[in-house]
Amino acid sequence: MSEIMQFHTTKPHMLKESKVYASQTLMGGLSGFESPIGLDRRDRIHALRTGDIGFVHSWDINTSVDGPGTRMTVFMSGCPLRCQYCQNPDTWKMRDGQPVYLEAMIKKVERYKDLFMATGGGITFSGGEPMMQPAFVSRVFRAAREMGVHTCIDTSGFLNANFTDEMIDDIDLCLLDVKSGDEQTYHTVTGGTLAPTIAFGERLARQGKKIWVRFVLVPGLTDSYENVENVAAICERFSSAVEHIDVLGFHQLGRPKWHELRIPYPLEHQKGPSAALKKRVSEQFEKHGFVVY
Ligand code: SF4
Repeated sequence: MSEIMQFHTTKPHMLKESKVYASQTLMGGLSGFESPIGLDRRDRIHALRTGDIGFVHSWDINTSVDGPGTRMTVFMSGCPLRCQYCQNPDTWKMRDGQPVYLEAMIKKVERYKDLFMATGGGITFSGGEPMMQPAFVSRVFRAAREMGVHTCIDTSGFLNANFTDEMIDDIDLCLLDVKSGDEQTYHTVTGGTLAPTIAFGERLARQGKKIWVRFVLVPGLTDSYENVENVAAICERFSSAVEHIDVLGFHQLGRPKWHELRIPYPLEHQKGPSAALKKRVSEQFEKHGFVVY
């Protein structure tokens, strides 16, 4: 696999349903997991705390999308944010996910171990928000690392407080969504607060982890010159941990899900950025010394 193939990535939230993603996806769904049945609310809460069970929306094996090499990407269910541009609102509620045993997930990683080794790939937890299920994710990561398998988390970092330093130790790479550069814009975009993302990025950097920053460009929402400058300034705080920044142009592939779930969709008429706007924003990041994809 060429270096370009290996490092030119796209964001699952944005491209999960695109033709490119479909052609890169080798297999997936929820097949191959034995699911516990008859869990009551108390069992669920206990299993969540211990990480014996994780609530999973879906998984797949793909190439060059969610980290280097061929990867098993597991989309966890549950997310505390409500991004206006979310492509997967069907992952928002944890209870809509399928409970999966920790052992079943670890076995699945083991099954593809040779493929991961041969391609420089590994396991990626995405979502939803994987940091909502810290015990499950970190126990799978620990087992993967013991097998020599590369680990990656795709997160907003909003639940920074959920991860201990020990848990961070088992992350090789973080795909960190910096959704905006100031608190007010961040809140408008996501309904949440920006500070935890910055704190999580700084902790990753301190612990010597690699970060691929992701920034979704939406005209009229995240594209102002000041907002992009502020995102760049945040990335500078992560210093050399940032290997590159993905500037992801908004698209409408997620719209049918909002309609299906009957959730009012704030970006109904959004057309996405022009090539000129994408160029301007990429150049802004480049001026700060970042490699931009
Ligand atoms: S962080 Fe935002 S984009 Fe990602 S799943 Fe949650 S709401 Fe959707």
